[in-house]
Amino acid sequence: MTDQERVINDVLAFTERNEEEQMFNNVKSYINKIKRQRDALKAELKKYESDEKITELKNEIDDLKANSLFIFSENEKKEEIQFKKEHRKCDANIYYYFEGTEFGVAVGLKCSECGFIKDITDYSRW
Ligand SMILES: [Zn+2]
Repeated sequence: MTDQERVINDVLAFTERNEEEQMFNNVKSYINKIKRQRDALKAELKKYESDEKITELKNEIDDLKANSLFIFSENEKKEEIQFKKEHRKCDANIYYYFEGTEFGVAVGLKCSECGFIKDITDYSRW
């Protein structure tokens, strides 16, 4: 191998190494970009899942609160949901009234904002 050939070989090897390094760096930065996107999506997904989960748990707590106070019949439950819907715009608390009589327990609801009172007793249970 002549000196000239050796120099050419060195230059080629050097160029190849640099190209490989360049390619490697490109791939590396691409992978990093993908990883960042993945982490961002993971965080987004986690937030979404926890929002869903919180809503689900809140509903469950509402149900437990209502049911531990008094076991509503299906009709009373429907009336309660309807009442809540109608007074959602009031953004208020709902008061529950229970009146024990010798026939059964009467149930009433009151909106703390507009003061509307509704007897939702399911008399078919009496
Ligand atoms: Zn109201």
